[in-house]
Amino acid sequence: MIETAGSPRQRAKEADMTVALAEAKSQTDFLVSKTVSRSKEDPNIRSGAQFVESLRDGRTVIANGREIPDVTAEPWLRRGIDTLAGYFDAQRDPATRDILTTVDPENGERISTCWLVPKTIEDLRRYDRMIKYSTYQSFGVFGRPVDYGPVKAISFVAWNHLIEKKEPEAIGKIRNFLKVGQRNNLTSADIIIDVQANRKLPMPQRAGRLRVVEERRDGIVVSGAKAGNSVLAQGNIGTISMPPPDPTMPEECMIWGAVPANAPGMRLILREPSITGRETSEDHPLDSGGEEADGILLFDRVFLPWEYVFSYRNPAIRDIYTTLGQFAFWKIANRLSYRAEIFVGAAQMIVSALGTDHIPAVRAQVAEVIAYASAVRGLMTAAIEKGQLTESGVMLPHPTFVTAGRLHAIQELPRIMQILRDLSGQGLIGRVPQSSWDRSDIGPLLDEYLPGNNMSARDKNRLFNLVWDMTCSPNAMRLALFENINATPAPALKEELFRSHDRSEGVAAIRRRAGIE
Ligand SMILES: Cc1cc2nc3c(=O)[nH]c(=O)nc-3n(C[C@H](O)[C@H](O)[C@H](O)COP(=O)(O)OP(=O)(O)OC[C@H]3O[C@@H](n4cnc5c(N)ncnc54)[C@H](O)[C@@H]3O)c2cc1C
Repeated sequence: MIETAGSPRQRAKEADMTVALAEAKSQTDFLVSKTVSRSKEDPNIRSGAQFVESLRDGRTVIANGREIPDVTAEPWLRRGIDTLAGYFDAQRDPATRDILTTVDPENGERISTCWLVPKTIEDLRRYDRMIKYSTYQSFGVFGRPVDYGPVKAISFVAWNHLIEKKEPEAIGKIRNFLKVGQRNNLTSADIIIDVQANRKLPMPQRAGRLRVVEERRDGIVVSGAKAGNSVLAQGNIGTISMPPPDPTMPEECMIWGAVPANAPGMRLILREPSITGRETSEDHPLDSGGEEADGILLFDRVFLPWEYVFSYRNPAIRDIYTTLGQFAFWKIANRLSYRAEIFVGAAQMIVSALGTDHIPAVRAQVAEVIAYASAVRGLMTAAIEKGQLTESGVMLPHPTFVTAGRLHAIQELPRIMQILRDLSGQGLIGRVPQSSWDRSDIGPLLDEYLPGNNMSARDKNRLFNLVWDMTCSPNAMRLALFENINATPAPALKEELFRSHDRSEGVAAIRRRAGIE
C-alpha cells in the first residue's frame, strides 16, 4: 500500500529516517533549487512529500493573470503534483521499489531507474517495466512523467562521438548533470520548441527566439521564449535544446543546457487550466488526479553557468535533432503503447457493462482497439529487442520501430478514442453526478432503472465517468493534442522514416527479380 504524500505517518517516518543534508555542493548547486533531507538507507530517493517540498522554491508562475506564489497551494496544479508525488512514494514502496529504482553499477547506490544510462537490452527492458508502471499509475495523463527524466542527456551520451569533435568537454558536463540528477532524484521538463510566430521569417528576425545575449567568463545570459514546457510548473528542472533544424538558425540560438524552474529572470505563463481542482474521484476518476500544465516560458536575461551549458554554437548538433531525440521518442511511444492497453480494457468494460458484446459489429469495434494496442506494443517490443549500441556505448531502442510505432500510435489515436465514444452510446452523456445520485428521492430510482449487464447502475455510472475523462473531458482533449503533436507531428515522422529506413535488401530483391542492372 502506497502511503500518501504528506500523511502524518509518512512525515513521522521521514523525520525518523532522515538526516540533514550536509553537503555544501548540493546546497549551492545551480540546478538544485531547494535541498531536501535524505534518508540514510537510500540517500538518492526522495519521498513524495520531499518532492512536493522541493517545488516551494520561489519560481515565477503566472496563471489566469495571477502570479502563483506557491504552485503546491494552487488546487489545479496541486492535483497533478500529488499524482507525481505518488510516483516518488512508489520508488520507496517495497512492492515497486525494484521496478522504479536501480542500483547504480558504478557506485552501488540506489538511483531512480530513469537516471540510469542504458548499456544493455536488459536495461531497456528495465525501463519498459518502469514506463508500464507509471502509465498505469497516472493512466498516461502526463506526457512528461517523472520517469521521462533526463532523456536528452542520455542521448547526448549516446551520440557523444558526433559532438566531441567540436566540444570535447561536453561529455564531462553531461556526466556531472546525470550525477546531480541522480543524487537529487530530479524531474525534468523539455524546453525545446520555439514560440509560434511567422514561420516565413528567417530565425534571426524572430523576436522570440531563445538566444544568447551575453557571454561571460562564468556562463551565458539568454533571452527570448520557448513553448510547451509541459510539467515545468510542477517539476524541478528543464533541459533546453534546439528546435527542429532550421537552416537560418544563427549560432547564438544553438544552445543545449539545463535550468532550474526558479531561475531568476524566468517566467512561466501557463495556459488556461483544463480542470478546476475540485473534481471528485467519483465523478471524475481521472481528472481528479490532476493535469500536466503547459505554458510559454519567458527568459529575461537568464544566467546559465558553463557547467550547465552542455553545448553552444555547435552546428553539428542542430543537424541531428531527430537522432538526439530518439530516446525521448521511444519513451513517449512506449507510454502510448501502455495507454493503448488501457483503451482495450475500457472497450471491454463498456461492452460487458452494456451487454453488447454478443453483437458482431460491436465485437469488430473492440477488435480494432485490440489490433491497435497489439501493433503499437509489438513495435515497442521490437524496438527494445532490436536495440542498437551506439558508438559511444549506449543501448538505444531501434529507431525505425520507434518512429513507425509512434506514427501509427498518434495517427490512429483519434479513431480509437472515437470507437470508445461510439461503444458507449448514451452512457457518456447519461452520467449522473454523485450529488444528484445521493438524493434520497432520485438515487433509488436510478439504482432500479439503470443497472447494466452484471453491473450495478452506480458502477456503470462510474465506468462512464472514467471513459468520459479518457475521451471527452477538456483534460482528455489536452492530452490528445499533446499526443498528436509533441515531439514532432506525423508529417515530420513520415519524412524521418523515409530519410532513415534502410530498405536496401528489399530494393536489391526487386532489382534481381525484375532483372534490372
Ligand atoms: C499540449 C502540448 C504540449 C507540448 N509540450 C511541449 C514541451 O513540453 N516541450 C516542447 O518543447 N514542446 C512542446 N510542445 C510543442 C510541440 O513540440 C510543437 O507544437 C510541435 O513540435 C509542432 O511545432 P509548432 O507547434 O511550432 O508547429 P508550427 O511550426 O507552428 O507548424 C504548425 C503545423 O504545420 C505543419 N508543419 C509545419 N512545419 C512542418 C514541416 N516541416 N513538416 C511537416 N509539417 C509541418 C504541422 O502540421 C504543424 O503542426 C507541446 C505542444 C502541445 C500541443
